[in-house]
Amino acid sequence: MCILTETCRHYAKLHPKMFVNIGHPLSVLLVLVGTAFFFSLQMFYVVPNIFGADSLMNKLGWLAGIFVTYNILGNMLACYLTSSSVESLPKGREFPEPEEEHLWRYCEVCEKLMPPRSWHCALCKCCMLKRDHHCAFTANCIGHNNHRYFFWFIFYLTLGTSLSMVTLLIDGLRKVWLLGPLHSNLKALLLATATQKIEIYGIYGHYLLVLLNALAFGFPALMLAFQIQIMDSNATYYKMFSRLYDLGFRKNCQLILGQRGLWTFVSPWLKSPLPHDGSRWQMKQAA
Ligand SMILES: [Zn+2]
Ligand SMILES: [Zn+2]
Repeated sequence: MCILTETCRHYAKLHPKMFVNIGHPLSVLLVLVGTAFFFSLQMFYVVPNIFGADSLMNKLGWLAGIFVTYNILGNMLACYLTSSSVESLPKGREFPEPEEEHLWRYCEVCEKLMPPRSWHCALCKCCMLKRDHHCAFTANCIGHNNHRYFFWFIFYLTLGTSLSMVTLLIDGLRKVWLLGPLHSNLKALLLATATQKIEIYGIYGHYLLVLLNALAFGFPALMLAFQIQIMDSNATYYKMFSRLYDLGFRKNCQLILGQRGLWTFVSPWLKSPLPHDGSRWQMKQAA
């Protein structure tokens, strides 16, 4: 498990109110400011620098940048707006049928029976259907109804920051190339840049930007690796390696992404109904 999420979990348990009132807005703001920063940096500086402002590649860069940013923010918003609370169950499904009563579990906080795979969240103050984990960056719980949006939110954050990293590195190499031959050592490079103040800032600014970009890439990339493992086995974050509900990759995908499966990468607004309401779960043995 990621040490950062475990630290957040520990802090959230100790100070739940502070985590919701301060941790949530700060985390959401970090994503919004970070996305706006890297989008502007790429579109107005790095991509035109590499390919030229009037080039076809620059125009394609704009299309790619807008598509990725739209999916980061769209999926983040859809994730926040879609609740996975047990309250979202359709009427008549709030209580178990007699034959499934033994599968439901009593929540002592909500004081009622909850469907299998539902867990209580102390921050959201209710039980969540197929609870994955509580996410500070979307300010709610990830569960049965919004897992799809979280998956693509993380996917596009990773894709966006990795593309940004690649173009930053290319632009850095281009700068070094302009300042002197690639085989020159660091001393020669510094001497060459000493006469060009703007380029000195360009080079050192680049080191800082690459470092920032690496940090912005690392966390979502790790989370994406976890989420791919979760999708592969139809598991949840805290039981990532359990294969109890593994029905095969195609079915597992549909149980998280809905009937359109991986096509949901196109847009968070693409309709993709989930196969069931999140209260009945088929186990691997019964598949
Ligand atoms: Zn509960
Ligand atoms: Zn929660």
